[in-house]
Amino acid sequence: MALIGSLRFGARALALKAMSSASQETIERRQQIRLRRLVRNAKQSSPYLAEKYADIDPETVTLADLPTSNKGEVMENFDRWLTVGDVKRDEVEKFFEDESNLGKLFLDKYVVSHTSGSTGQSLLLVKSPDDFELNFALQAARGHAASLDLKEIVTRFTERVRLAAVTLKPGFYPSGTAFTYMPAGVRNFIDVKQLSLTDDDLFAQLAEFKPTHLTTYASILHQLARGIEAGELDLGGELEQVVNISEKLMSEPRKHYEKLFGAPVLDDYGMGECLFLTCACMTTGGMHVNADWAILEVVDDDYQPVAPGERGTKVLLTNLANHIQPFIRYEVNDIVVMATEPCECGVSLPLIAEIEGRSSDILYAIRDGELKPFHPAVVETALGGVSSVREYQIQQDVPEKLVVRVEPIESASINTDEVREAILATLREDGLDSIEVTVEVADKLVPDDDGSKFKRIVTNVEPPS
Ligand SMILES: [Zn+2]
Repeated sequence: MALIGSLRFGARALALKAMSSASQETIERRQQIRLRRLVRNAKQSSPYLAEKYADIDPETVTLADLPTSNKGEVMENFDRWLTVGDVKRDEVEKFFEDESNLGKLFLDKYVVSHTSGSTGQSLLLVKSPDDFELNFALQAARGHAASLDLKEIVTRFTERVRLAAVTLKPGFYPSGTAFTYMPAGVRNFIDVKQLSLTDDDLFAQLAEFKPTHLTTYASILHQLARGIEAGELDLGGELEQVVNISEKLMSEPRKHYEKLFGAPVLDDYGMGECLFLTCACMTTGGMHVNADWAILEVVDDDYQPVAPGERGTKVLLTNLANHIQPFIRYEVNDIVVMATEPCECGVSLPLIAEIEGRSSDILYAIRDGELKPFHPAVVETALGGVSSVREYQIQQDVPEKLVVRVEPIESASINTDEVREAILATLREDGLDSIEVTVEVADKLVPDDDGSKFKRIVTNVEPPS
């Protein structure tokens, strides 16, 4: 069974590899077929979406014909949104209350998880275990430094990838599930060690495992780097690549870490609603959208498309693989910039140039006597230019005042006056002259130990009504 699964996985990865350099028309055609299939199934099997798409013909529908959706709508109509009748919200919530359910399938069929709810309501997610095969096949085919061919697949069958996935703490959150529910066929290629920042023996376990691949968040990468710098952690020197998932890592610490870890440090952008959304580009350091399996639209406040090179205010996500809980033109508050030119690496999948954080991360200034929001990217740009900063935190307790905490890389010293001047200069360029800035050097900037992600932006200012 596992062997057949492995053959299928290998074949699937090779097909995905071929598709990544297919013509744009071929990829779009594939996308269209999958979108219509998704809408057809949603209309047939989801009571809520049948009503929502009453006037939509799945046989002729195009993306722009479809209405948008959001987290509030999914959660308010949770049971009726799903295309399966046996998953009920209260039962899923009860399932999460029992920690011994970690790693188990809900009703022996479904992978369930929930987001942290750091941006309001927590989202419950329902997936098929098959989705995780796609997830790993995409990573193997497109998100890997070594080029994938049959020889590489055979090699990996005998010399398995040793993937260490370090998360904040054990829990039912989406990124943790990817490794827990790895299909048996994939396990013949990848040996996964799932660890948490809260494990007392984290460093010892990593040292023993000697990972070839490391997947984690930037804030945990900092923690591992601190350990290596202090001589307390030895990863064994066999790392081939490090992947930072969905957290900002500035260019200077990235360069420093590539030397420290002895491997390229790549970014991967995904979300609980679509973990396999992108694969890192080995050539440019950007991220390619897996456009044959997901659609990412960069839009403005009025849901109108934003041109490549321009910053959107949110994105609309369509996950073409999850037929159980359809996410179709689903709104996510991420600020994304698409590249203006085709990628030089030869992959024809759309390239994300930059992710500038969440549009819900907002700071305030008083302009013309009124409290107006501005995006922290203004301050972050200045910080990115300071070579010795590992991590930062921007706190605003009252309008017009920012406290910026910076942690230096290793033993570097930071001149707080210079940092302050750099921030004030970029603020002035944006007409934000009146803001006071205090810069403090912090010993260590780490996530709270409640398991929530590190908060780079802390706003305590009441937004204007
Ligand atoms: Zn590329």
